[in-house]
Amino acid sequence: MGKKNDTIKADFLVIGSGIAGLNFALEASKYGTVAIVTKKELMESNSNYAQGGIAAVLDTMDSFEKHIEDTMKAGCYLNDKKAVEIMVREAPKQIQKLIDIGVGFSKENNKLSLTKEGGHSMRRIAHVHDTTGKEIERALIHQVRHNENISIFESYVAFRLLTPEHKSTKAQKHCVGALVLNTEKNEVTTFIVKATILATGGTGQVYKRNSNPKIATGDGVALAHEAGAEICDMEFIQFHPTALAKKGKPALLISETVRGEGGILVHKDGKRFMPNYHKLAELAPRDIVSRAMFEELKKGPVYLDIRHKGSTYIKQRFPYLYNELWWYGVKMDKDLIPVAPAAHFTCGGVHTNLNGETNIPGLFAFGEVAHTGVHGANRLASNSLLECMVFSSRAVNSTKKYIRKMQNAKCKMQKIPITYNLKPKTLNEIRKMTSSIQKLMWSNVGIVREEKKMKKTLKILDRYETNIKQVLKTGINRDILELKNICNVAKLITQAALERKESVGAHFIV
Ligand SMILES: Cc1cc2nc3c(=O)[nH]c(=O)nc-3n(C[C@H](O)[C@H](O)[C@H](O)COP(=O)(O)OP(=O)(O)OC[C@H]3O[C@@H](n4cnc5c(N)ncnc54)[C@H](O)[C@@H]3O)c2cc1C
Repeated sequence: MGKKNDTIKADFLVIGSGIAGLNFALEASKYGTVAIVTKKELMESNSNYAQGGIAAVLDTMDSFEKHIEDTMKAGCYLNDKKAVEIMVREAPKQIQKLIDIGVGFSKENNKLSLTKEGGHSMRRIAHVHDTTGKEIERALIHQVRHNENISIFESYVAFRLLTPEHKSTKAQKHCVGALVLNTEKNEVTTFIVKATILATGGTGQVYKRNSNPKIATGDGVALAHEAGAEICDMEFIQFHPTALAKKGKPALLISETVRGEGGILVHKDGKRFMPNYHKLAELAPRDIVSRAMFEELKKGPVYLDIRHKGSTYIKQRFPYLYNELWWYGVKMDKDLIPVAPAAHFTCGGVHTNLNGETNIPGLFAFGEVAHTGVHGANRLASNSLLECMVFSSRAVNSTKKYIRKMQNAKCKMQKIPITYNLKPKTLNEIRKMTSSIQKLMWSNVGIVREEKKMKKTLKILDRYETNIKQVLKTGINRDILELKNICNVAKLITQAALERKESVGAHFIV
């Protein structure tokens, strides 16, 4: 890997250090040099907060056909069946790979302990207590940090894809890297590479109430869209039914496995309501539970109750949640847990084929940022860590072939004047605009949507876009870049939601 002034060259640029990015980097490092850029520390990602687990057919009573059918049913059969079949059939191999690199999955009687979540007809979720994502990230990071072919750039925010026209064809753009802001030094580095990988995760921060960490501002979708990549199914934003709903406290996600292990949803008087909505009650698909919660919350607060499982079991099975909730003043074994839905997962994204290729040569995507079609209109629980593993592994082949084809990637860069010193007044303005868009999206393009409100939202977002462009002329920093991306993704979600006239899966209009 070469560094000249503020230009870094490598074979692969991986944007994002969640499970998708790290797994790819490890496998791709066998074929070339890899640069990983990531917004904050390597560990900070949606992946790191995944509690429930990773789905795979691991029990003799289970079958690929059942997992495929559960996935298709949750996705309202709008899934790409081929993609689903690939994901499900490759799942056991991926679990074995994780075990081989040291992931300590929870066990019972010397066998993997399998839990259940909404929409699954069988117990098929491998987990590490309730901190599965953190443990997988830990194991992958350990490997990545000891790999000589991988260089890591933390606090580096990619903000523009480099897509000059192809020398030979002229007409077709291809991606040769990205401009990246080092947020500690306030410097821009140009990464010139043969293959650019988007593994930037989700878009949760577009919404006021969401379960995602602050890094999830939809950057990958926005950058790809600006570069002309095809974006699909953005209306399908999954709202998780149970995030902590306590004033002044974050919307901490309460994993679906709590319901999988017997937790029930009740009003203050202890009355259950989910059996009135679906035969699977609390374990109905997420869109159904979230909409039921939306209705029930009109009558009063809703709680999750797992107290009947007993203190010893709860502390052993959900150590992370028990501790986190304790800090927020809720004792999981003694109290009802106040809950409400929160934006959680982006089923759509940058469209790719089954090998991670986008419509722009040289640009690849996988993980939550991508749209492979596996989720259809609604994701089945614990299928996303699996999607990250399967499709990042598959993309190694296509990227490997691509970098062999590319000789020395060259890019004539025009100088981009960049100012960094945004005034404190401007910073305040940026934060206010971000918060306003998040509130707007929560009320107008949330769990239940109305055409009139969405049309109004689009007009307001256009005005924000104009204001953001003005600020961008005066300088850049992480906040304004993220606001630009949030606004861009908010527009994509709203436009897609307006185009889909009928309610289906995670998209519900009245
Ligand atoms: C609280 C919570 C619980 C969940 N539980 C489960 C579960 O139990 N099972 C399951 O299957 N799924 C679960 N999910 C969903 C799952 O965690 C994610 O879909 C998955 O981890 C996404 O992985 P990823 O690698 O695609 O992206 P992420 O893990 O989100 O990683 C994205 C990376 O990209 C970086 N990045 C973003 N933008 C830029 C930029 N502009 N420049 C540089 N770097 C950038 C980020 O810093 C981060 O490192 C959960 C999600 C959350 C939030």
